[in-house]
Amino acid sequence: MTRHDTFLTQDTTGDPRPKAIVIGAGLGGLAAAMRLGAKGYGVTVIDRLNRPGGRGSALWQNGHRFDLGPTIVTVPQIFRELWATCGEDFESCIDLRPLDPFYEIRWPDGSRFSASGDRDKMRAEIERLSPGDLAGYDKFLKDSLDRYEFGFEDLGRRSMHKLWDLIKVLPKFAMLRADRSVYAHAARRFKDPRLRMAFSFHPLFIGGDPFRVTSMYILVSHLEAAFGVHYAMGGVGAIASDMQRIIQSQGGKVQLNTDVDRILVEEGRAAGVALRNGQEIKSDVVVSNADAGHTYTRLLRKKTTRRWTHKRLQRTRWSMSLMVWHFGTLGTRDLWPDVGHHTILNGPRYGGLVRDIFRKGHLADDMSIYLHRPTVTDPTAAPIGGDTFYALSPVPHLGHDDPVDWTKTAELYREKMQKVLEEQALPDLSKHITASEVFSPNTFRDRYLSPHGTGFSIEPRILQSAWFRPHNISEELPGLYLVGAGTHPGAGLPGVISSAEVLGKLVPDAVPVGASK
Ligand SMILES: Cc1cc2nc3c(=O)[nH]c(=O)nc-3n(C[C@H](O)[C@H](O)[C@H](O)COP(=O)(O)OP(=O)(O)OC[C@H]3O[C@@H](n4cnc5c(N)ncnc54)[C@H](O)[C@@H]3O)c2cc1C
Repeated sequence: MTRHDTFLTQDTTGDPRPKAIVIGAGLGGLAAAMRLGAKGYGVTVIDRLNRPGGRGSALWQNGHRFDLGPTIVTVPQIFRELWATCGEDFESCIDLRPLDPFYEIRWPDGSRFSASGDRDKMRAEIERLSPGDLAGYDKFLKDSLDRYEFGFEDLGRRSMHKLWDLIKVLPKFAMLRADRSVYAHAARRFKDPRLRMAFSFHPLFIGGDPFRVTSMYILVSHLEAAFGVHYAMGGVGAIASDMQRIIQSQGGKVQLNTDVDRILVEEGRAAGVALRNGQEIKSDVVVSNADAGHTYTRLLRKKTTRRWTHKRLQRTRWSMSLMVWHFGTLGTRDLWPDVGHHTILNGPRYGGLVRDIFRKGHLADDMSIYLHRPTVTDPTAAPIGGDTFYALSPVPHLGHDDPVDWTKTAELYREKMQKVLEEQALPDLSKHITASEVFSPNTFRDRYLSPHGTGFSIEPRILQSAWFRPHNISEELPGLYLVGAGTHPGAGLPGVISSAEVLGKLVPDAVPVGASK
C-alpha cells in the first residue's frame, strides 16, 4: 500500500481525517479547500497575505474599499454548485446583483456601445453603429454557443491531464476552427472595426492577446448573454470571506500572513510544506494555488522537474501585466452621471497597442483603460456621497527584454492615466481625489509572487491550454495538485473555480485514519 492509500498523517488534536494543505487563498485555492473539506479532509489553507481572496481581496483607505481584482462575476451557477456541494446556499450567503447594461465601450471618435443581456437592445446598438453587421451578430452568438458547450461545459470541467483526452477532442477543435484567433473570428462576422473590438477584447480579461488566443474564447459572449454580468455586493472579497467561513465550518483552517517556502517531498510524494519561519506541516495531499510557475521553480526547487523546467517556463508565453490605479473621490456621486459601473475607454489603436504589450514588450504612449465604478451598484464601497474607482491599463509583463523600471515609471504612468480619464470620462477628477493606491507589475510580482508580475499567469494560447497547461494533478510529484489561473482550464473566476471542480474529481475521497476502506 502506498502512503496515500493509508492516509497516515495525524494531528495532535486527534482529528482522524486525512490532511490536506492548500497553498494560497485565491479563489481557486479557497474553492479547492471547500471541495476537499466536503470530501472529508482536514484542510489548512495557507496564504502570505492578511486577507483571503488573493487577487480577489480588498484594501481599505480613508473609508474607500478598493476591490483589487475581479469585478465581473459571470456564470453564477458554478458558485451555486460549489456552495451546494458544501451543503450551503450561495444565494442566501452572497447578494449578487445583475447589471444592466453590462458595460459601455467608448472610442476616441465619440462613439459608444452599450452591451447588455437583452438581445433586442444589443441588436439596436449594433444597428446604430453598423446596420450591415446584424446578420453577423446572430451568427457570432451561435458560434459562441457551440464553443461554450464544448469548451466550457465539457473540456473546462474535466481533467485534461491525459494526452489521449486531448487527442480524442482534436477533430472537434479542428471543426470549430480553434486555430483561428478570437479577433480573426470576430473579423469574419463583423465589418465595423468598433464591433470587431467589442466582440474580441474579452480574452484581455483573462490575460490573452485577442489576436493570438484561440477563438474558443468567443464563448464568453454566450456566457454574458445567457447568464448575465453580475456584481457581488461587498465586492468579490465578500465571496472570499464567505468561502473562508465555509472552510472553517467544515473544521478547516485558514492561516494568513504565512509564507510557504517549499513543498516537502518524502518517499517520492508530496508530504506537506515547510514555512518561511522554518516550521513544517505534514499532510497527505498538497494543493498549490500559487502560480504554477512559482510552484515548479520555487516551491519545488529541491526536486528535479521533468516537464516544467526553468527552461520551459522561460519559453512559456505569459499573460500581460497591469497598471491598476485605485482611487477614491468625495462629493462626486452626482458628478459624471454617464459613467456607469463598467466603462472601457479605447485609445486610438487596438491591434497596434495589443502588439506592443504582448509581442514587443513595449510600453506605448497611448493606452486603453477599463474603468470600474462599483459605487454605482454598491454605495458601501465609499464614504457617503463619494465614489470608489479603479482604472486598469494592460501593460507588458516584466519578462520581456529590457523591462520597464516601474519604480521610476509607475507615478508618471498614473498621471497619464489621470489625464486620459479627465479628458474622456471624469472631468476635473484631480480636484476630488481623496484616496489613491497604485498596483504596478512590481506589485503583482511581489504581492502574489506572480512570475514576471503577470496579471493572469500563463497566456491561454491553444498550445498552452488543456493538456498543454500545467495539469491539475501534478505530472512532477504524486500527491501534489494544482488549481488556479496558471492551470487547466485557466484564469478568471469561472476558470479557477472550475479548476477546483476538476481537482475534486481527481483527489480520492478521504478515509479517516483507522477506518476500513
Ligand atoms: C485587476 C484584475 C482584474 C480582474 N478582473 C476579473 C473579472 O472581472 N472577472 C473575472 O472572472 N476574473 C478577473 N480577473 C482574473 C481573476 O481575478 C483571477 O484569474 C483569479 O482571481 C485568480 O485566482 P487564483 O485562484 O489563481 O489565485 P490568486 O488570486 O492568484 O491567489 C493566489 C494566492 O496564493 C498566495 N501565494 C502564492 N505563493 C504563496 C506562498 N509561497 N506562500 C503563501 N501564499 C502564497 C498569494 O498570496 C495569493 O493570495 C482579474 C484579475 C486581475 C488581476
